Amino acid sequence: ESQLNPGYNFENFLEGDSNRLARSAGMAVANKPGGTSFNPLLVFGGVGLGKTHLAHAIGVEIKDKYPEKTVLYISAEKFTQQYIESVKKNTRNDFIHFYQLIDVLIIDDVQFFSGKSGTQDVFFHIFNHLHQNGKQVILTSDKAPVDMQDIEQRLLSRFKWGLSAELHTPDYETRISILRNKLYRDGVEMPEDIIEYVAKNIKTNVRELEGAVISLIAQSSFNKKEVTLELAQQIVEKFVKNTKREVSIDYIQKVVSDYFQMDISTLQSKTRKRHIVQARQLAMFFAKKYTKASLASIGSQIGKRDHATVLHACKTVDNLCETDKQFRKYMEDLNKKFTQ
Ligand code: ADP
Ligand code: MG
Repeated sequence: ESQLNPGYNFENFLEGDSNRLARSAGMAVANKPGGTSFNPLLVFGGVGLGKTHLAHAIGVEIKDKYPEKTVLYISAEKFTQQYIESVKKNTRNDFIHFYQLIDVLIIDDVQFFSGKSGTQDVFFHIFNHLHQNGKQVILTSDKAPVDMQDIEQRLLSRFKWGLSAELHTPDYETRISILRNKLYRDGVEMPEDIIEYVAKNIKTNVRELEGAVISLIAQSSFNKKEVTLELAQQIVEKFVKNTKREVSIDYIQKVVSDYFQMDISTLQSKTRKRHIVQARQLAMFFAKKYTKASLASIGSQIGKRDHATVLHACKTVDNLCETDKQFRKYMEDLNKKFTQ
């Protein structure tokens, strides 16, 4: 059982500027599994940008070209559960052996391994074995290897051996073609101005774009409503509202410094005064929580600090929230400002 979903293939993975590199790398790997320098191939990007789809597409294509090869798709979460189960049942060696016999191993959402040292260790051994034997490994993650946390250095360095390809948020043209394709496959006609309206207003990810179009199709075919621009507006509004709007690092610094009644320049200053340091650490913590910026970029925007300082700030905030009631209240008050 390969666990592959044939509905996720290259044909319906539409190409655009936002995914061209990752898609082409995926095709190259599918043509010559284990035979390119893209080993492992790591596809990374935010939610709903197509990581799982692309991972399946590569597997499906390989199965098609090389039916004799064993291909396995598995989520990092399921891999972890299987591993834990094998330890309980004393079958850890069988577990390792099973994975070492696979020709093409696809593991989705490897960020799930973070902090799980046993799973990382077993995966490290499986990875080495596969790689040495010219087998292909394909991984997806919500972050680039440099931004992954609580993953052992030796694994991170393996992740960087091959190619890391990012899936970006789709540009307008790509959004239009994804919408058209979806409508076409469902045999639904939709006025051009509505397609454009949806593509213009839903920008964050493909899953939402598809969600909006599915709602539109449902409204028109089940409720027999005419698909008007008003209907499209209502539906789009629902989708846009439901997504946490992305807050900027500037906005976070403004909210935090206002809350503590200080200037942004004070928040960013080099002082070691405790309440200023804590305000700055909270700003870094929220920037990590609510933006997609890398640790390095958060650090450079909040007072020219390095990524290790940001990492330390996030850990400090976590710790203080556990031990200091007053601090926890600051964090919760601020958190409300970013979530409401
Ligand atoms: P992720 O794993 O990154 O969260 P998914 O692979 O689950 O994202 O993609 C979310 C949805 O968007 C899926 O239904 C997928 O088919 C669709 N999708 C993503 N990228 C594309 C694309 N380039 N062309 C067509 N559909 C896409
Ligand atoms: Mg996914």
